[in-house]
Amino acid sequence: MNEADLLAAVPDRLFIGGRWRAASTGATFGVHDPATGAVVAEVADGSVADGLAALDAADRAFPGWAATPARERAEVLRRAFDLLRSRADDVALLMTIEMGKPLAEARGEVAYGAEFLRWFSEEAPRIQGRYDPNPEGTGRMIVTRHPVGPCLLITPWNFPLAMATRKIAPALAAGCTVVVKPAELTPLTTLFLATLLAEAGVPDGVLNVITTADAGTVAEPLLRDPRLRKLSFTGSTAVGRRLLAQAADGVLRTSMELGGNAPFVVFDDADLNRAVDGAIAAKFRNIGQACTAANRFIVQRSIVEEFTRRVTGRVRTFVTGRGTTQGVTIGPLIDDRAVAKVDHLVRDAVGRGATVCTGGAPVEGPGAFYAATVLGDVPPDSALLRAEIFGPVLAVVPFDDEDEAVRVANNTEYGLVSYVYTENLARGQRMIERLRTGMMGLNVGVVSNAAAPFGGWRLSGLGREGGAEGIHEYLQTKYTLTPDP
Ligand code: ADP
Repeated sequence: MNEADLLAAVPDRLFIGGRWRAASTGATFGVHDPATGAVVAEVADGSVADGLAALDAADRAFPGWAATPARERAEVLRRAFDLLRSRADDVALLMTIEMGKPLAEARGEVAYGAEFLRWFSEEAPRIQGRYDPNPEGTGRMIVTRHPVGPCLLITPWNFPLAMATRKIAPALAAGCTVVVKPAELTPLTTLFLATLLAEAGVPDGVLNVITTADAGTVAEPLLRDPRLRKLSFTGSTAVGRRLLAQAADGVLRTSMELGGNAPFVVFDDADLNRAVDGAIAAKFRNIGQACTAANRFIVQRSIVEEFTRRVTGRVRTFVTGRGTTQGVTIGPLIDDRAVAKVDHLVRDAVGRGATVCTGGAPVEGPGAFYAATVLGDVPPDSALLRAEIFGPVLAVVPFDDEDEAVRVANNTEYGLVSYVYTENLARGQRMIERLRTGMMGLNVGVVSNAAAPFGGWRLSGLGREGGAEGIHEYLQTKYTLTPDP
């Protein structure tokens, strides 16, 4: 479809109980194209009453969906996977329009995001329990798994499709019903996804979508409602903390995918070609706006000059522009606030003595563009070594020996992912043991995979998404004892 037809085909209302409805207040809010600043759509601005109506619908649909045979739930998800793949070009274009990533990357996200539907369609029939004699030999212990209940899924704007499917697919596979609250900056992809899920046969009320410009106000009463049993959130650590506090009252199950501050460590025994390729992918994928984005490039002093020279050469070949334009590799940031934040972090580092190898400033003109940047010799007290940059800025910090590399890499309260480049197997194994992160790329710059347990340590969050672990986040365990027969 062309852009206008596609935008016209995306629903602009709330999806509650299988019906598309306007917000109870009639209010709407605008969705922008960050490459131009233009408003591309107006969608319903859901109210507290709408949020509660969605929870009503999810609660009513829960017993039926929970009792639906796993194979049937699996088949719905599998049909959704096929439908999503058949609409890959449209979904990719929609993401590029509302979020800004280059089309090729958006297509990559459709492939990745769709995979959660297929993966969890395969996991649904494998929800298993146990039946064992107790150690005393006096009884039988039966362990069964049950869906936790209606879930609130709050997603961020940086991966509009994949963050939605990564939560919706395991929830539905487990037999849970959901209220999805997409990021207000990128609601269109989730609305379009809802049409595909409905077409795939998701029953009314099992999936509900609430768009709103005021997430805090709409989410809070849902979190206080005893019918809600689970919160899954991906976003900033600041908001995640607040939601955890709100979830405490209802003792909700929570999954929290929060911020990161990924170290990318390159030893002098690394394959430098590979390390440079990995660095470019780990940094510039999604214009640096990923919680898994490498935030600190920690490079052994003997190769730091060569590494910096090579990445700078690569970055200078990047083409910045609207993601729909052929050949563009760097799209806009999500909004002007993001540009201002990145600019502030770069200025701070440069003010402390970092060298600008390339880039180093916002791009003049319309749209939220920041030039792809490489900074060398970033001083240890620079703010960007502690904060998530969330932009196309590759910051290099030299180190001398392995202990120092570990110390610098671990010098953060986050612990989502780390990247290590070395051809020395023993060193690689030591780094697996020593780096405090929930995930690691060893000679690899991108780790995401629907089959892998994605998640962080420490302030990066709680729980895992994807893999065999992902479905358990939506299941609760029951143990039953019966006497010896
Ligand atoms: P980011 O910094 O990536 O924009 P946020 O944590 O602000 O991340 O947002 C992630 C998601 O959380 C979005 O869907 C946003 O609407 C939602 N959100 C933001 N604040 C709150 C809140 N107080 N309560 C519930 N959801 C919120």
